[in-house]
Amino acid sequence: MDRQTKNFILSINCGSSSLKFKLFNTRSLKTELEGHINHIGNLESHFQITDHDGNILINSLTAIQSIEFAVNELITWLKHNIKKYPLAALGYRLIQGGPQHRVPERITPDLLEILKQQIYLAPNHLPDEITAIHAFKTAFKKIVHVACYDTLFHRNMPACTKYYPLPAEYIDKGLIKYGFHGLSYEYVMKKLGSKISTTKRRKIIIAHLGNGASMVAVKNGIGIETTMGISPIGGLVMGTRSGDLDPGVLLFLLKEGHLTPDELDELLSKNSGLKAIGGTNDVQALLSNEAKDPKAKLALSVFCYTVRKYIGALAAAMGGIDMLIFTGGIGENSAIIRDRICEDMDFLGIAIHEQSNQMSREIISPLSSKVQVRVMPTNEEWMIAHHTRNFIENI
Ligand code: ADP
Repeated sequence: MDRQTKNFILSINCGSSSLKFKLFNTRSLKTELEGHINHIGNLESHFQITDHDGNILINSLTAIQSIEFAVNELITWLKHNIKKYPLAALGYRLIQGGPQHRVPERITPDLLEILKQQIYLAPNHLPDEITAIHAFKTAFKKIVHVACYDTLFHRNMPACTKYYPLPAEYIDKGLIKYGFHGLSYEYVMKKLGSKISTTKRRKIIIAHLGNGASMVAVKNGIGIETTMGISPIGGLVMGTRSGDLDPGVLLFLLKEGHLTPDELDELLSKNSGLKAIGGTNDVQALLSNEAKDPKAKLALSVFCYTVRKYIGALAAAMGGIDMLIFTGGIGENSAIIRDRICEDMDFLGIAIHEQSNQMSREIISPLSSKVQVRVMPTNEEWMIAHHTRNFIENI
């Protein structure tokens, strides 16, 4: 079978406790199947696959110990169904590949070696991503595997944004601002471009608000500033991540808290943010608890305050704002959080139309508003499939 008759591209989005995937038709890029394995490492990991009509093909609760086991479960299913779903290529979300690797590229043994050498830049993400790629490459040897980096969108950040005020020797080691959620931002900008002429809206802020959350300032189509830096721990207060901290806080934790570097990482990545303040990282749960639990209320106000603060900062970075776009699990679904974020932002020309916001309409600002506020669903897996198809069409 040649590539033309192999109809599907599989997009893999791999986290430390979840594996998300979607199968796309290579020609139309329509979703054929989607699924996940969640709660990896728990006794009841959830493996689900649904088809494009919503039929559930797999729905099981079993103990899946590690990302390696999760990937093997999926490989077994794919091999069993390969006649029905022949694969043209696999595309992967990769957190980053260092300063030199941002553009989608074929995953060769040499690239895997380079990625292994970059683990120090993303120690919480790259090892699992590499493990997953290795297993898929071993299982599907003759198929093209494509790396899609989350840092691509931010590649043109100007020097005044990109570099930390530290000695140059650290820049040489890759200690620069990369920015993440790039596949999500690319998708949103692509969909936006198909709806409106972006030349009229030159200064756009996108807020990707999910468990992980970041924001980007897009000026004339280019990401010029973003809230995350060398790691996805920085910027906004997130579900379990601290966001930006005074460097003195880190020194305090190391010296007075006697934390080891690994313990510090664990604290900042997994036990900070909304979870530390409100007892859970789940915004829906915080919203249901806030009337009776002051900690939940505080966590939500810290979250909304931080997003508001960064809207101001990113607008200043662009010299203004024409459009604000909400995406991600919280941004797409929570009218109340959007409302609180946009409260008192009329000094920037941001206003919300209450009814449109409640209904999560595409445009949630009044017609007269200077800044258009939008809600746009993201689809990182589609973006991976798009890059992967472009790549295989050109080899
Ligand atoms: P991830 O970064 O893991 O992909 P998601 O984008 O799925 O995260 O977002 C998860 C967050 O979205 C959770 O905090 C969840 O509570 C929140 N969320 C999802 N739906 C709603 C909703 N209807 N109202 C408020 N928050 C929501």
